[in-house]
Amino acid sequence: MKTDIILAWGEEFLIKQLILPIRLAGAHDEHLDRGCRSKPKFCIETRFGLTALFIVCQDCSAFEVVI
Ligand SMILES: [Zn+2]
Repeated sequence: MKTDIILAWGEEFLIKQLILPIRLAGAHDEHLDRGCRSKPKFCIETRFGLTALFIVCQDCSAFEVVI
């Protein structure tokens, strides 16, 4: 039981502290590479029964799953 809690915390920590910043930076760069200069927004939404982080840009209508 104790191990489960530590593992769960560890996973959340990994995603929030390590994976997420890399994924955000990557998504941001990919968006820039497409030639769009405006700043995309990130939002958490539930689509198709899955909660995910999306990158959204109103200028080029980009809408992609980040994580
Ligand atoms: Zn854009």
